[in-house]
Formats: sequence, C-alpha cells, structure tokens
Amino acid sequence: MDRVYNFSAGPSMLPLEALERAGAEITNYQGSGMSVMEMSHRSKVFQKIFDDTQEKFRKALKVPEGYKVLFLQGGASTQFSAVPLNLIGATGKADYAVTGNFSKLAYKEALKYGEISVAATSEDQNHTYIPAQSALKLDPKASYFYYCSNNTIYGTEWQYVPETGDVPLVCDMSSDILSRPIDVSKYGVIFAGAQKNMAPAGLTVVIVKEALAGKELPYTPLMLGYKTMIDKDSMYNTPPCWCIYMLGLTLDWLESQGGVEGMEKIKHNKAKLLYDVLDDSRLFTCAAQPGSRSDMNVTFRSVSEELDAKFIAETAAAGFTNLKGHRNVGGMRASIYNAMPVEGVEKLVEFIRKFDKEN
Ligand SMILES: *Cc1c(COP(=O)(O)O)cnc(C)c1O
Repeated sequence: MDRVYNFSAGPSMLPLEALERAGAEITNYQGSGMSVMEMSHRSKVFQKIFDDTQEKFRKALKVPEGYKVLFLQGGASTQFSAVPLNLIGATGKADYAVTGNFSKLAYKEALKYGEISVAATSEDQNHTYIPAQSALKLDPKASYFYYCSNNTIYGTEWQYVPETGDVPLVCDMSSDILSRPIDVSKYGVIFAGAQKNMAPAGLTVVIVKEALAGKELPYTPLMLGYKTMIDKDSMYNTPPCWCIYMLGLTLDWLESQGGVEGMEKIKHNKAKLLYDVLDDSRLFTCAAQPGSRSDMNVTFRSVSEELDAKFIAETAAAGFTNLKGHRNVGGMRASIYNAMPVEGVEKLVEFIRKFDKEN
C-alpha cells in the first residue's frame, strides 16, 4: 500500500523528508559505524546531535536568554504533575483554565498539590469555545496561570495569549507547538509532547524560565525537578536520543518551509480549506465555534451517526485514515498538523464535496 494521508491526532504524520533521511542513516549515522539508536548519549557524535537540535529549536521559536529548553521523557502528561510540583510552592495557589480534556486532567492532578482555582471553563458548552480574556477570573496571588493552547480532542485553539499581569503563564502546547510564532518571554513554562508536531512519541520538550526553577516542593521526585534537568542539561539520565535526533530532522524540514512564520500561513490556509467546505456543505457542521476553531484539529459531524460511519469507512477506503472523532465529541476529526501536506487536505476537501453531493 502507498503512504496514506494520515489524519491521526497523535502520533501523527512526520515530514517525509525527515523519515527518508532517518531511513538513509539508520544503520550507520554519518560514518560513525552505528545507528543513532545504538550510541552512547555521552558520546561526541550524540552530543553534537543534541546541541544542534537545541540550537535549531531555540532558533525556530526565538527562545530568549534566561530560558532553558529541556528534552525529557514521560509525555506531556508527566508535566501535569511536574508543573505544580515545581511551581506551586511560590504561593500555594494556581489558576487553571479548563477548556478540554487535557487541561481537565492537568487541573485534577494539580488539586493534589495546592489550592487550585478554575479561572475559566468551557464545560457549559461541551468545550466548543475558548473563553474571552474578560471571562478569566484571575487571582493575582496565583503561582501561575495554566492553559492548553490547542484542545486536541475538541478542536478549539486559543487565538490570544492570556494577560495575567505578574502571574507566570504555563502552557501545554502539545498539539500546536511549532505551528506559529510565539513570544516565549511571556511564559514561565511551555511544554509539549513530541508526537503531534515534532518527533516520534517518547520526547517531551519543556521550555522553562530558569528563574522559576529550584523552588520545587520538597517531596518532588528527583526526575521531575526542573532544576535537576537544567543542571544536567537534560542528561541526568539517558534522554530519548532517537526522538531528539528525529526532532532535529523535523526542524530542518520546518526551516525549509519558512520556519514557524512560514508554517503559520501554510497551516492556516490548510485549515481554511477544510472549514470553508464544511461550512458550505449541506450535510456537515463543525463542532468548534467560529473564533475558537483550531487550525490543527478540525472537528465536525454529519446529520447522523450512520452517515458519519459511512463517511469514515469511505474515506479510509480512499486512503484517508484516522478520521474518526474522539469518543467525547463523536463525529469526525481531521488532524492536520505541520507535516500533513496541503495536497492531503485538498484531496480530503474534494472528497467531502463529492460526499456532500451524493448523500
Ligand atoms: C496528546 C496530548 C497530551 C498527552 O500527551 P502524552 O505525551 O501522551 O502524555 C497532552 N496535552 C495535549 C494538548 C495533547 O494533545
């Protein structure tokens, strides 16, 4: 079978160029006589891969001085614990915006460690929108304000950066990192699992403002302390070497696309193609409200569950996979991360138009 257009929410498509380079180098990385998977993380060859990937990542997101980029394991979900453990000691309190599944999980985890307030929630309308700045109930004494910039399951995305005064921002960017420029200096901590926009599963990138580290709660597991990993440059233990290497290849590809500035235009155009055809259709409606719609995960449904099932079966047969929506939302979800080619979206749009006409 040929490569398919894989609309999976994660792990998801990686740039073909990155996969091909990895394939070409898989048994013998640049004359080292071994695979990156077989190298000591303390070797010179690997250290160079690590340093180059760090440099490329910092350049892509213009990470300023005073911030450390950590390459960790444990997935974004481990950060649901690491964030409060490292940061809540400041005042014992934190504010959470609950706008979807993952921020809800992060909120529930944080309840173990301090006094947590729901600063905003979109639960009243099944997370189909992002609350406005004016709706945020902010506590100036919070240790941090937590939000998730793109709600992978519900298909909503924050179109603004919350203003929280002196309260540091913490953001889960797992499903939209590297899809648009961000002003890192506005944040205390940014984290993201790699398997949506960056690399294979197994790597978690954490950007930490160094001034906030070193104040973890006393019982914080050593491996979850930001200070531990800052001091050891992410190598207190073996880092996810292969995934770091793959991130480097993805970042080379990203640069060839014009970096995050180029990607912002590309991804917005891809999303617009889909939203436009869905809005124009007779059969389909989008789950997310206009103004809150995600450019990464497009959630929609047809007029009945039977027709949804037919759509999913027919798209799969036509080479578009993983379009079934998450059980919390139902219907369909097209995840169109950075590595989804424009042609993949154009072909899906064509399919939707035809399906709309014929049913
Ligand atoms: C996928 C996802 C997670 C979970 O990531 P893991 O790496 O599996 O822990 C958390 N937050 C968001 C926004 C996600 O999309």
